[in-house]
Amino acid sequence: MNNVTDAKHLQQAQELDLSNFWMPFTANKQFKAAPRLFKKAKGMYYTTVDDRQVIDAVAGLWCVNAGHCREEIAHAIANQASEMDYAPTFQMGHPLAFEAASRVAEVMPAGMDRIFFANSGSEAVDSALKIALAYHRARGEGQRTRLIGRERGYHGVGFGGISVGGIVANRKAFSANLIPGVDHMPATLSIEHAAFSRGQPAWGAHLADELERILNLHDPSTVAAVIVEPVAGSAGVLIPPQGYLQRLREICTKHGILLIFDEVITGFGRLGKATASEYFGVTPDLLTMAKAINNAAIPMGAVAAKREIYDTIVNNGPANGIELFHGYTYSAHPVAAAACLAAQDIYEREALFERAAQMAPKFEAAIHDLKGEPYVKDIRNLGLVGGVELESREGQPGTRAYDAFLHCFKNGVMVRFTGDILAFSPPLILDESHIDQIFSTVRAALRAVH
Ligand code: PMP
Repeated sequence: MNNVTDAKHLQQAQELDLSNFWMPFTANKQFKAAPRLFKKAKGMYYTTVDDRQVIDAVAGLWCVNAGHCREEIAHAIANQASEMDYAPTFQMGHPLAFEAASRVAEVMPAGMDRIFFANSGSEAVDSALKIALAYHRARGEGQRTRLIGRERGYHGVGFGGISVGGIVANRKAFSANLIPGVDHMPATLSIEHAAFSRGQPAWGAHLADELERILNLHDPSTVAAVIVEPVAGSAGVLIPPQGYLQRLREICTKHGILLIFDEVITGFGRLGKATASEYFGVTPDLLTMAKAINNAAIPMGAVAAKREIYDTIVNNGPANGIELFHGYTYSAHPVAAAACLAAQDIYEREALFERAAQMAPKFEAAIHDLKGEPYVKDIRNLGLVGGVELESREGQPGTRAYDAFLHCFKNGVMVRFTGDILAFSPPLILDESHIDQIFSTVRAALRAVH
């Protein structure tokens, strides 16, 4: 049976017409010259169409935290799709939507237990920004419309997300006029002062004071929200300096500004706790999540809001009308909600967040062991997320990490590259042998690229 399926897959791949699918975030021409295609996944591994096993050092796209193709999740999805494929959650609902919200609320920071469902990280971010604006209006502070993000921040690809985000490439091809009234704090990159820090750099808490500076340029009472990734992922793994997030929290509280943590990557165990908020002991007002919320088996995103935010919007809304005019056809989709419940069961039963915390020191030791390899300029890590920044080739930024990525892929390891940074965020189920396999291959790749 398997041989037949495998042969079919290989034949399909060879006959595959690559012309119709417009690949997202991909160098399309470059990809077609050297396609990389998977046909199966299980646990820590993908199988390519030509039957090679490739270890997944990125949990897909920072999302498959419990490892691939978990049977409990697959069954939950299949059962739900045949039991009740779809039901609206506008003005009516289904029990799974409420159960999934309660289950997610259980692992959120205390008091952040009102859950709004979306279908992706981008939608979660745009929902959170809208909730922030609606909250201030509801409490009679409708002048608070300014938003503050951070350079190199990644908050998805909606117009809200690219406006508060700070990755130039995500913005410049589209419009010079994104959401008006947005400022950006500096990124918390500290190569010059704290290269090769293990965990949180000691240098850089003062970068949070840039928020005060920006607020002083305006009237702080015009600012609605500040949004940051507690650990910035997509721009190359930037770890917050010690004390930095606490300082942001103090400044936001002082000025009545909402703090939004974008936990699309850090949510559900990446740092060894359910959320980065719990890990750092800093509670935001709104928290966005997606990806590992249901082990990425089917699209789902969400916003957790403090009770006070929900109450303010709902209590100040019309007596019998809609209080927040926002939602998606697929908000709390029954199949995604079923997958969410199954994934949360696995996280709890297998104590995967604790497991991530246990494996983190081993991951840290292994990634920092790459210091001294060719072109390695900085290594950053926290929990089970890490980045290795390489010196760029003169006039050809990004090509060195791309070459290393290709070398790893050919040698059975899937890493992620962004600019000249190699990023790692393996499934939380990994063991020491996986860590060895990943980093010995990366070491060989760096030497080969040299
Ligand atoms: N926010 C963060 C912090 C992310 O890392 C991502 C995706 N990598 C997003 C938002 C967007 O999520 P999605 O691709 O599901 O829209």
